[in-house]
Amino acid sequence: MGYHPPFPSHPPRSPALEICALASGSKGNAVYVGSDGRGVLVDVGLAAGEVERRLGAVGLGPDRVAAVVVTHEHRDHVRGVGAWGRRYRVPVYMTEPCRCRVETVLAGPGLRNVDVRPFEPGVPFEVGGLELRPVDSCHDAAEPVGFRISDGAAALGFATDLGFASHPVREALRGVDLLYLESNHDVDRLWNGPYPWPLKQRIRSRHGHLSNDACAELVADLLHPHLETVILGHLSETNNEPRLAFEATARVLRHAGAAGDVTLLVARQDRPGRRVASRRTPREPVR
Ligand SMILES: [Zn+2]
Ligand SMILES: [Zn+2]
Repeated sequence: MGYHPPFPSHPPRSPALEICALASGSKGNAVYVGSDGRGVLVDVGLAAGEVERRLGAVGLGPDRVAAVVVTHEHRDHVRGVGAWGRRYRVPVYMTEPCRCRVETVLAGPGLRNVDVRPFEPGVPFEVGGLELRPVDSCHDAAEPVGFRISDGAAALGFATDLGFASHPVREALRGVDLLYLESNHDVDRLWNGPYPWPLKQRIRSRHGHLSNDACAELVADLLHPHLETVILGHLSETNNEPRLAFEATARVLRHAGAAGDVTLLVARQDRPGRRVASRRTPREPVR
């Protein structure tokens, strides 16, 4: 193991479930999840043009994106959803309460002329060759969700922007091959840092953000023999550092004797990470 900063790579089209964090953090989030060259963007929290540029940097064109799926209405997750939906004429999936809020968050044309399709937590839906199972998460938004995403062979657990990992979230993420989890802040840095007191309390609340230690505890709980990769995301630029987030989860992996088995990566705000594909491909679903 050791700390390897993510870097853009250009692997061939992957037949397996893959994930690529294009941007991660409070200034904007966008994550590509696909299989066999087609998939979805989970959140478009940067300008649509910047997300397209970052997709290109990892060897993916916007034509690979069959839909946008939104976790919640905060601006760092929805800034470019309307523009992306209009420009590429793909559906944008979000819960109904989320849609109502997004209309007020987005300036200009908002969601006008966008094919918005509602989903409900707990009710799976299919898009882009993937099955997505949304699960309620705990965050100060209208109806925030995480996802379990599967291509029929491998599964990915996706959970950012959550104050704590509830029982339903843990169950939704259990047994997956790939994990993308929030590791937002170092608790000491947050308390001793420059944020105003009410904001510190909000972040630490059950509707705030997951700390490095809470994320590490969640990884320890979810650890199983076939877990391949954990990507840590939504790091606070003020109250965290990649090495602190990495070390917190690396410690629990070492403690569990799994450091050599699980690849641990940290997603970045300023650049796309590498494309990570599951070893479990549709052609060989059993091992
Ligand atoms: Zn966020
Ligand atoms: Zn949020």
